Amino acid sequence: MQRGETWKEYESNPLTHSAAHYLMTIRALLQERGYARVTDIARALNITRGSCSISLKPLKKRALVIEDDNKFLQLSAEGDRLAQLVEKNDEVVEAFLRDVLGVEGEQAEIDACKIEHLLSLDTSLRLAGFLSFIQSDSKVARDFLKELAETNTGCAGDVANCPVCQESCLVPPAQGGATPRA
Ligand SMILES: [Zn+2]
Ligand SMILES: [Zn+2]
Repeated sequence: MQRGETWKEYESNPLTHSAAHYLMTIRALLQERGYARVTDIARALNITRGSCSISLKPLKKRALVIEDDNKFLQLSAEGDRLAQLVEKNDEVVEAFLRDVLGVEGEQAEIDACKIEHLLSLDTSLRLAGFLSFIQSDSKVARDFLKELAETNTGCAGDVANCPVCQESCLVPPAQGGATPRA
């Protein structure tokens, strides 16, 4: 693939965001109570049974979700693998955004949720490896986090003095400009 063409990869993503949440919900239900029916999934996701059934169809067709004769749902090995990958992605991206970049409050959780189904296994494992290094008790890691927290890496609201923006500041000066990290 040529540079500049990579955005088209987004369309070939193996899971939609909602499909990822269906798989994770089924996995959680199976772990918590040992079974998952359409009713249980609909309740967990706060949607109607009808729309739940419709959304499950393509997942059954792709054999990620398997329904037995009594309408109990299971994940296939591939469905379970994808659910685990998305869960892992969510966990590492949220930890990276919050603990390394200092993204505050719910924003780290919201952004991680949006990205979780898009990361490849390779990127996910590298990010997890980076995090486990950064969270280790190594002096280099501790110094790095300390130095990063003390450096102003926010938008200055004035492009001539901004460490992050290039052509114009993404945060208008009216909104307070510099946002040093806590
Ligand atoms: Zn999500
Ligand atoms: Zn800026």
